[in-house]
Amino acid sequence: MELQITANNKSIVSEETHFFGDVCKNFDYAAQFTKHDAGLLDQIKSCNSVYRFRFPIRKGNGFEVIDAWRVEHSQHQSPTKGGIRYSEMVNEDEVMALAALMTYKCAIVNVPFGGAKGGIKINPKNYTVQELENITRRYTVELIKKNFIGPSIDVPAPDYGSGEREMSWIADTYATMNPGQLDSMGAVTGKPIALHGIAGRREATGRGVAFAVRECVNVAEDMKKIGLTPGIAGKRVIVQGLGNVGYHSAKFLQEYGAIIVGLCEFEGAIYNADGLDVEAVFQHRKTTGSILGYAGAKQEFKHSLEGLEQDCDILVPAALENQITAANAKKIKAKVIAEGANGPVSPEAEAIIYQNGGIIIPDMYCNAGGVTVSYFEWLKNLSHVAFGRMNRRFEETANTNLVNMVEGITGVALTPLQRSTIVKGASELELVNSGLEDTMIRSYHEIRETYVHNEKIDTLRTAAFVGAINKIAVSYQNLGVWP
Ligand code: NAD
Repeated sequence: MELQITANNKSIVSEETHFFGDVCKNFDYAAQFTKHDAGLLDQIKSCNSVYRFRFPIRKGNGFEVIDAWRVEHSQHQSPTKGGIRYSEMVNEDEVMALAALMTYKCAIVNVPFGGAKGGIKINPKNYTVQELENITRRYTVELIKKNFIGPSIDVPAPDYGSGEREMSWIADTYATMNPGQLDSMGAVTGKPIALHGIAGRREATGRGVAFAVRECVNVAEDMKKIGLTPGIAGKRVIVQGLGNVGYHSAKFLQEYGAIIVGLCEFEGAIYNADGLDVEAVFQHRKTTGSILGYAGAKQEFKHSLEGLEQDCDILVPAALENQITAANAKKIKAKVIAEGANGPVSPEAEAIIYQNGGIIIPDMYCNAGGVTVSYFEWLKNLSHVAFGRMNRRFEETANTNLVNMVEGITGVALTPLQRSTIVKGASELELVNSGLEDTMIRSYHEIRETYVHNEKIDTLRTAAFVGAINKIAVSYQNLGVWP
């Protein structure tokens, strides 16, 4: 099943790394709690297709050769799905690991995709917009040439260093190279709304994190075990990272009644036991370039990591990997850690957190809001109609008739505000958020059920892996092996 394609004869040396090995170790640990054949487990774990290639771009008066990858980890569901990382640090091992994690993540939140990931080894800051466009379009053409992209094959999305702009270039390149293909816009997600994107995609990961945290702290039995009262209202939260995931996580948690007592960025951290206004801190950072100096903070810390150790109930590391390690895990006071970022807690730290009576909501589930809404965007692209367009007016008419009837029977007239709230049909954003909320709630309880009903399963992460392995195994068993 392993496919290794090199675009030309030049050898590509990848760094000695072990991220994929770590993912496989977690997999192997969880696999002992399943009953699948060793060969099947091996098939699930392996990266099916690893495409590494190089292509030239014009730079100044000369050329530059760019290293790139696309990995499709598993085709037990089609298409495969995963972001494209634009980073100087990207390497084959990392792309393989992230592709594997996408497979498990999609299975956990019941998104019917296999996992994939892409990488372009550049620092986007060193290139002009024109050069970035050339790189992105050429990367897309290389994928097209080898059948590594398409609405039913493999659907990229943004990741570190890429965003809506790059997704637009990919969509346009794909459509140009596939004239007349009706579903061409479904070849990539994370596009701007004006180019067949979807409402709510930008904030989806942070919103999903907030749903995950709310769901976790709502279970009274679990909260009792870790010494917290149930419910999100009044819970003291520290968030690391005020980027896409961190900012939206903090904002939505605040909306649900949590008190954001600490915020950490790379320049330092701020704390106020009475609460910080997330939007005001965000605006302060936008104007001054730093969260430090915010008037509403009672304490400031020079190092982001110090901020993580302050008093709180919930910690949301939503910036980068390896923030909580054996070195600082014992100093963490939070009882619930929600992994907004990928890999913010090391395996050693995870053991310490659990030993100290804490719980970790694992990244594979916690930050799956983005891929969930990407799935909705893909569905929208295939159906060629915005969610809500066909039924909104119909719903409003039906609701109006119902309200009129209730008012007639009871003799009680609703206020105009009450009436419009009840009557209004759902917008695309409301439907997307509702679908996301449902996904995050159901998936949390699937993981939790596995966790609480098997004494030997010691973490929610292992429980999430067990669930994912079981679902993927069923797909492979149903598909059979051909020939
Ligand atoms: P982002 O670039 O928008 O934000 C990251 C933020 O972290 C930035 O504000 C940055 O200044 C800050 N930061 C950098 N170094 C820091 C440090 N040492 N201490 C504190 N803050 C620091 O990125 P993002 O999209 O929010 O992604 C954050 C994490 O979430 C990554 O691990 C990413 O892989 C993961 N993730 C993102 C999405 C998504 O939809 N954006 C989905 C799943 C997972």
